[in-house]
Amino acid sequence: MNPIPYGRQHITDEDIQAVVGALQSDFLTQGPRIKEFEEAFAKYVNAQYAVAVANGTAALHLCALALEVKPGQKVITTPNTFAASANCIQYCGGEVVFADIDPETYCLDIQKVKDLLESSPKGTYQGIIPVDFAGYPVNLEAFRELADEYDLWIIEDACHAPGGHFIDSKGTKQHCGNGKFADLAIFSFHPVKHIACGEGGMITTNNKQLYEQLLILRTHGITKSSDLLEENHGGWYYEMQMLGYNYRITDVQASLGTSQLKRADEGIARRRAIAKKYDEAFAGTVVKTLSNPSSIAHAYHLYVIQVENRKALYDHLRAQKIFVQVHYIPVHLQPYYRELGWKKGDLPQAESYYEHCLSLPMYPTLTDEQQQFVIEQVLAFAK
Ligand SMILES: *Cc1c(COP(=O)(O)O)cnc(C)c1O
Repeated sequence: MNPIPYGRQHITDEDIQAVVGALQSDFLTQGPRIKEFEEAFAKYVNAQYAVAVANGTAALHLCALALEVKPGQKVITTPNTFAASANCIQYCGGEVVFADIDPETYCLDIQKVKDLLESSPKGTYQGIIPVDFAGYPVNLEAFRELADEYDLWIIEDACHAPGGHFIDSKGTKQHCGNGKFADLAIFSFHPVKHIACGEGGMITTNNKQLYEQLLILRTHGITKSSDLLEENHGGWYYEMQMLGYNYRITDVQASLGTSQLKRADEGIARRRAIAKKYDEAFAGTVVKTLSNPSSIAHAYHLYVIQVENRKALYDHLRAQKIFVQVHYIPVHLQPYYRELGWKKGDLPQAESYYEHCLSLPMYPTLTDEQQQFVIEQVLAFAK
């Protein structure tokens, strides 16, 4: 059996043709394919505006800049995420505060966030960054209510969840990243994510002012837009109005993104079928899986199980060339954050989850045979 990774991209002939088309065009960067990708993506997640950027981490950094995170300000996020979700606050000199996860969703526990907010003077915190971990759509309606009470903004880290949704209290589908409850949402197009650009990221929002700010921040803080200029010396004239970065994506990457996006629904349907088969195979066994309430449509970037003998199972599966992974080492226990005062015992749910979790292969081109082999190996060895 060939090696089975935990996730992988799926590149078709159409994707290759799309990229070739970009290479043969007049633009390698900042051409029409970026706008095309942005518009298609905004439509896909049901948001008004989208800004394509160099990667998901750049997207997070730009969000923190647009929301004016400043030294001394505190922002709450989850420890069960990729480090970038937290790092964007540190980039701006702010301070990340981690709140523990809910063992029923593996996402930020809103009650723990409430506890933090209630135990500090108003104004201590500036924002919240919930993460749709593994593709589980966080109930952002509830987070919005809490955020409004404390005058906080929300960045939804939806890197794992394009195509996911939850049902709000009025029975309406709320797509991950639609900007209905979060001020800004971000996505990544790293090859292990749902949509691959090589490197790439996206910010979505319904807030026009933030949208315009992001466009300028993405390219050095420079604008040429005549209605925004303070002076105008002629056709060549531009102004650098704030300190921005070069966080642009290229037309070549955007062409791949647009092509991949056309198959996003197909991909997610396959992911859900794979998840269903895992769910059924592990039901009533020692392998713990997450329950799947009807109030959400999981996007299944990852399929996570919990077992008692995680390390042994990991080693066993790896020996079978099933390249499972662990998501995530709690961010607060990384040496950088330990140096800032975080320690083992601070967030018991996330730490206990980390002791037991394992991400099984989950990607659209995983075959039934491969999945069957994975299931057999897991069931034969799990304790
Ligand atoms: C992948 C990922 C990021 C960062 O995206 P890059 O494109 O790799 O910079 C941020 N947050 C989460 C939850 C991710 O999975």
